[in-house]
This record gives sequence, C-alpha cells and structure tokens, in this order.
Amino acid sequence: MWDRYRVRPGSRVRLREWDPDDTGGFQGTRVEVETAFAKLNHRLEALQELLYAESKHKMLVVLQAMDCGGKDSVIRRVFQGVNPQGVSVMSFKAPTPRELSHDYLWRVHAHAPGRGQIVIFNRSHYEDVLIVRVHKLVPRSVWERRYRHIVEFERMLADEGTTILKFYLNISKAEQKKQLEDRLNDPTKKWKFRIEDLEERRLWPQYMTAYEDALSRTSTDFAPWYIIPSNHRWYRNWAIARILVEALESLNMQYPQPSNDLSAVRIK
Ligand code: ATP
Ligand code: MG
Repeated sequence: MWDRYRVRPGSRVRLREWDPDDTGGFQGTRVEVETAFAKLNHRLEALQELLYAESKHKMLVVLQAMDCGGKDSVIRRVFQGVNPQGVSVMSFKAPTPRELSHDYLWRVHAHAPGRGQIVIFNRSHYEDVLIVRVHKLVPRSVWERRYRHIVEFERMLADEGTTILKFYLNISKAEQKKQLEDRLNDPTKKWKFRIEDLEERRLWPQYMTAYEDALSRTSTDFAPWYIIPSNHRWYRNWAIARILVEALESLNMQYPQPSNDLSAVRIK
C-alpha cells in the first residue's frame, strides 16, 4: 500500500514537516498526472459499482480541512462519475439544538455507511475536537477524552465491516488567502464567503495545534489519517484517488453469483 501520506499510528504529527506544495509522489508532468487521474477515476467508478453490487463492504471517507482547503472540490472531482445510488455525502455544520442535546457522536453514527455504500463526510465528528476546542465551546476536560471515544467509535465501525479512510487536506495559510480572495472576487463563488471564515483564519495557529493532536491521536491501522498536500489541486485529486482505489482493490470484491442457474435461460 502507498503510505507516503499516511500518519503512522502513535507517531507525533508536526504539520510544518508536511509540505502542502509537495507533488513528489508523482513522477511526471501535470499533464501526465491528469491522464493518470482520469484512469484512476474510471477505476474508482468500476470499483464503486462492484462495492454496490456485492453489497458486503461499507466505506467511510472523512474529509477535513481548513476553510478553502478543497473539500467540496475533492467530492466533485474525485467522485465524478460514480453511481449516485451507492454514494452519499453528509456535510456536518454547527449542530442544531436537538443534536446538541445528544452526545456528539449521535448525529454522526446515524449517517455511517450501510453495506454496499460509500459515505463521504464533509467535516465530521472531528469538528468536536477542532472548532469546539479552538473556540472553547466545551471545557478541556470534555474534549480531552473525545480522542479516546473517537478511536473506539471508529474501531467499532471497522469491526463491523467498515473501511475507514480519513483525509486532511493540507493547504498553507498563503494558499488559503489566495482562495479566500478568489471567493470574494468571483461572483460564482462569493456565496460561499462567510465573514466568520476570517475569524477562523485569525485562529490558524490554534487550529494547527488542534489538527496536530487529532491527527496524532486518532490515526490507527483501522482508520488511518492521510495528510494530503493540497496546494496543487491536480496532485491532491490524484493522490486521494490513488489511495481510494488501492483501498477498494484490497477488498478483493466479486460480483455476486445470480441466485438461479442461468445457463439454460433463453430470452424469447
Ligand atoms: P465551505 O467550503 O462551503 O465553506 P464548510 O464546511 O466550511 O464549507 P460552512 O457552512 O461554511 O461549511 O461551515 C460549517 C461550519 O460548521 C464550520 O465552521 C464548522 O466548523 C462548523 N461545525 C461543524 N461541526 C461542528 C460542531 N460539531 N460544533 C461546532 N461547529 C461545527
Ligand atoms: Mg466555510
């Protein structure tokens, strides 16, 4: 398995050691990577169809990033062409009062994938140790024990047959500035701009610390984190597609056998 960007369980992540501009995992030009990406994308389509047909495995893809990190564009580009019957996206926003009245995993568990499905989490239960920690929405003693809950929750999902892949889209602060300016100036993107995003940007160092802890403390063999260099979108998409394809291939899926012997069937 390709483990260039995988966070080794138990290792200590220091994000300044992870270059958001890295493109070194691909030996070739940008044009070549796009051709390679198109191939992977077709392969992903076929594997997803197989996952759906076999209806045995479940796959959970977690996407986390700072604002403008490219979660939406990964969902659009990497998963383009897949069968919408077998893939769904769940975006986690600030919890509603009803959600807040429950434990923080309650709203998450309900959306975990069933057999044959891929579910993509656009933000996730990790917000409960990220924004919640940075904004001190709960005391330290409360968020501190959540890493343990999260690892155990994911272990349970994995034990019950879920393949879990978690991606942190690693952009630099300078790249975020560029993207925010782009949002501000492009009439088709302006709707995405939220004034609160500027406040989050101001808290960049606090977020990096919170991400480092989350990545270090919750990367496991059964639910690994990948830190994907994401300043270059073409490379980011290729790297994620490659990891997904490898993970799906390792499931050794088979199309199910029809329930009857069809060898004598003639359609009149
Ligand atoms: P976009 O890329 O379109 O901006 P987004 O994921 O940032 O997508 P928004 O609607 O802008 O979507 O923001 C959702 C907000 O909800 C984020 O600021 C996120 O941190 C916040 N949020 C998500 N989960 C929680 C949570 N458990 N507690 C508090 N805030 C949360
Ligand atoms: Mg946002």
